[in-house]
Parts: sequence; C-alpha cells; structure tokens
Amino acid sequence: MTAIAVLGSTNMDLVAYVPKAPRLGETVTGTAFRAVPGGKGANQAVAAARCGGEVVMIGAVGADGFGVRLRSALAEAGVETAALRTVEGASGTAHITVDGEGANSIIVIPGANGLVTGLEAGDDSRIGAADYLLLQLELPLEAVLAGARAARAHGVRTVLTPAPVQPLPPELLDLTDLLVPNEHEAAALTGLTDPHAAARALLQDVPEVVVTLGAAGVLYAARDRRPLTVPAPRVRAVDTTAAGDTFVGALTVALGEGRPVPEALRWASAAAALSVQRSGAQDSMPTRAETEAFALAGRSAGTGQPPG
Ligand code: ATP
Repeated sequence: MTAIAVLGSTNMDLVAYVPKAPRLGETVTGTAFRAVPGGKGANQAVAAARCGGEVVMIGAVGADGFGVRLRSALAEAGVETAALRTVEGASGTAHITVDGEGANSIIVIPGANGLVTGLEAGDDSRIGAADYLLLQLELPLEAVLAGARAARAHGVRTVLTPAPVQPLPPELLDLTDLLVPNEHEAAALTGLTDPHAAARALLQDVPEVVVTLGAAGVLYAARDRRPLTVPAPRVRAVDTTAAGDTFVGALTVALGEGRPVPEALRWASAAAALSVQRSGAQDSMPTRAETEAFALAGRSAGTGQPPG
C-alpha cells in the first residue's frame, strides 16, 4: 500500500449558482448554494485515500463549524487527521460564483491555511514514514519548503502541484521530484504555451514533469526517457472541479505500488475521467474498485480508452 503524506490546504468551498455573475455594485438573485469540503491539499488526500493509499494530512482548520466538517470529510474518506491542527480563527474558504454558462470566479481566503508556516512536532516523522509527500501552493511557501526539505532528508519523493501558480524558488525546484502543472501553469512558469516545449524547459529544474491537458489527457516528460502522451478517456464531463487533484492522488498511489509509468498514467487518467462525470470535488472522486474497473475496461477494449 502506498504511504502518502499531504502537506496542504483545507477549504470549505461556498458555491453560489447564478444565471449571470453580478457586476461591481450589483445584486443578483442566485438559483442554488452548496457548501462542500475542498482545498487542493485535502482534495489530493481524499483522492489518494479513495484509490487505496494510506494517507496522512498535515495542515490546519479553524476553530469553527467549517473546521469540524472539513476534518470529518477527510476522516470519512479514510485520511488520518491527527496532524491536522485546529487553530484560532476561521477555516480557509473559497467563495465561488458559477454562472449559467458554467464559468466561475473565485475568492480564496486562506484563514487557518495561512497560519501553517512550518512543520510541528511529529510532522517530520510522519513525512519520513511516507513513500511520497504531496505539496501544492495554497499554504505559505515557507511551510511548503519545510515539508520538501524534510522529505528530501528522509529520501521521500515529492510531488508538487504548482497551483495557484507563482514563481517557484530554486530551492523548491531542487527539492521537487515530480512537478504536475496543468497546461496554463506550465505556460505561466516557463513563458511557453506549447506544453512539449514547456515540459522540456521544466526538465532543466526537475527530473520528471506531468503536464495535464484537460480533456486532451496528459504529457509525461523525464530527463532520461522519451516524452509520452496519454490521451484522456472520452467521457461526458459534467464538472471538472478537482480533476487535477484526483489525477495527482491516483497517480501517486499507482507509482507507489510500482506500476510502470505508462500504466500509472493510464490508471490516474481513468480516475480523473470518472471524477469529471460527477459533480462536486471530493464527492466526485472514484474508489479504487471503480478506477480499476474503468481502467481495465479500456485495456480489454484494446483501445486504451475506457468506454465513455
Ligand atoms: P482542476 O483545476 O479542475 O482540478 P486542472 O486544471 O488542474 O483541473 P486538467 O488538466 O483540467 O487539470 O485536468 C486534469 C486531468 O483530468 C486531465 O489530465 C485528464 O486526465 C482529466 N480530465 C480533465 N477533464 C477531462 C475531460 N473532459 N474528460 C476526461 N478527462 C478529463
């Protein structure tokens, strides 16, 4: 079983559905509201646990009702939450407006996440006991760096999702084993809009890169082998929220189990394709059995493509 530590964010996603987003100063009446657990760290933790990883979450929630819900959502998914602190003040929140066309605008208020500035007692050994450490950029950079340093000191592989995208300090790049940007993040980091060119440029700083390309699949590049593209299974997407986080969680589980890279990429693509067919973030993430069945269906169809 792959042991995974996640050092990252937990947010309550507060989603307002409106026919048309309000202009500055305008008030509009919406059609629905949902409050659902999210945050890139928690999403990756849930994805990995559902796919069969043994997952510990390191981070913080606020001393409020949202914090209680965020913690229990992780625990229900089988994620170990003893290293998820409850701190004074509000939990992280993401205020999301989705309009009638499905376009969204988002305000993130870090809350408790912003108070995670380093590791606490026990975190170093939790990271040291893992096969992989998953990192994103929704915590203060000093915490991300502290986690990455601990991982390197213990020989634990690091997987960094560079979102929300920002310039990456050279030390963090040095400490990253696998970088997983989406195509927009890859372009922002390199100034190159062609994902192949961006991946090549990123390989100067990290040994392995996976650029996620939405419905087009993924591009894998490593210093010591030829690049590989894996098309996404063709499915009817209803909500792509957290597709990238589902992919990262599932990929790490598969790699930790020793699956060869092409198979691990196909397996994680199957998990992500399942997640986009359901609405929600953590709610939409598939179980290991669902992922296995979907990936297998694609392989036995001889197309590499699970049936849509
Ligand atoms: P998000 O921010 O919504 O979590 P992202 O922008 O980080 O996603 P994407 O590149 O959009 O990441 O998607 C991640 C992966 O999810 C893709 O590489 C693909 O495997 C899968 N995926 C996304 N959209 C689709 C789709 N329409 N059909 C099938 N698979 C999809």
